[in-house]
Amino acid sequence: MIIRNRYIAKSAVTFIVGLSQLSMAISAQAPLQLDKTRYRLVQNWPQFQSEQVLGQPSGLGLDSQNNLYVFHRANGNPEDGKTIAQNTIAKFHAETGLYLGSWGAGIFVWPHGLTIDHEDNIWVSDIALHQVFKFSPEGKLLLKVGEAMEVGDDENHFNKPTDVAVAKDGSFYVSDGYGNSRIVKFSPSGKFLFQWGEKGSAEGQFNLPHSLDMDKEENIIVADRENARIQKFDRNGKFLGQLQNHLEAKVYAVQYGEDPSLIYAIDYKVDAKSQPVGSKLLVFDANLSRDHNFEFDSHYIIPICRYHDIEIDENQNVYVIDLLNNLIQKFTPIKFQ
Ligand code: ZN
Repeated sequence: MIIRNRYIAKSAVTFIVGLSQLSMAISAQAPLQLDKTRYRLVQNWPQFQSEQVLGQPSGLGLDSQNNLYVFHRANGNPEDGKTIAQNTIAKFHAETGLYLGSWGAGIFVWPHGLTIDHEDNIWVSDIALHQVFKFSPEGKLLLKVGEAMEVGDDENHFNKPTDVAVAKDGSFYVSDGYGNSRIVKFSPSGKFLFQWGEKGSAEGQFNLPHSLDMDKEENIIVADRENARIQKFDRNGKFLGQLQNHLEAKVYAVQYGEDPSLIYAIDYKVDAKSQPVGSKLLVFDANLSRDHNFEFDSHYIIPICRYHDIEIDENQNVYVIDLLNNLIQKFTPIKFQ
């Protein structure tokens, strides 16, 4: 296979892959104990079927049909405040990596988080517009919260909201965000219900809540990025526990596994001169008390990367997006011999 990467704009890459590309079969995995499990990179995945622009991928989500959605910044420059003219939401078949299409042109300025709810609706946040959007699986706008380009910390305004977690009844939690330091809960129709958190490093405080997820009981886990920790709360915002990552490595994203007894996370570390050292994949028990091993196959040479979001499918395959190298990667578990 030949992949030619060619820069067409600042931090945007075009992938061109021949149409003759066939999908790689991925054998079904037996249930695994995560300890003593290693992962290998799935080669030739994803597969673009035509010329596509993928720039600064920032959000990832899986729907019930095993489609993987990627929210990205195309060849827009988020800092210029202009609406991105290209499509920003790309869809892939998670198993084969086949590209299935894209949409989302002319709406977003600075794409950030993406979440798929239990009805396969697609929720995204934009940290320049200061808004959260809900779309149907077909891409029809269903709900918008926050006022475009208006910063605030009240019931109708965000300050760079980063991510959304959606409950079974359609109510949803927003991590808000780069500017504010709170988690906000809304009714299914987008009415403010309550919030918790303020800037700081004590229990229940945040310094850049960057990603969040919930289990079936609506317990919320939050990647408290600049505090380099994960915090866990109940559905009402009561603090339940935390896990401090080692201080230099910020926690970028958190995700419950298909098996909700596992929490996956990614971090990112820079050196004393703020140069990237790289990202790691982390796995914990649901109560954040026990670290599991996560190893890559020895053949995989880990590049300097900056993972920004993570997804896990029902076969414990792990998907990450790398903001530094404009990549989507899939890792599949292999048994440790
Ligand atoms: Zn971010």
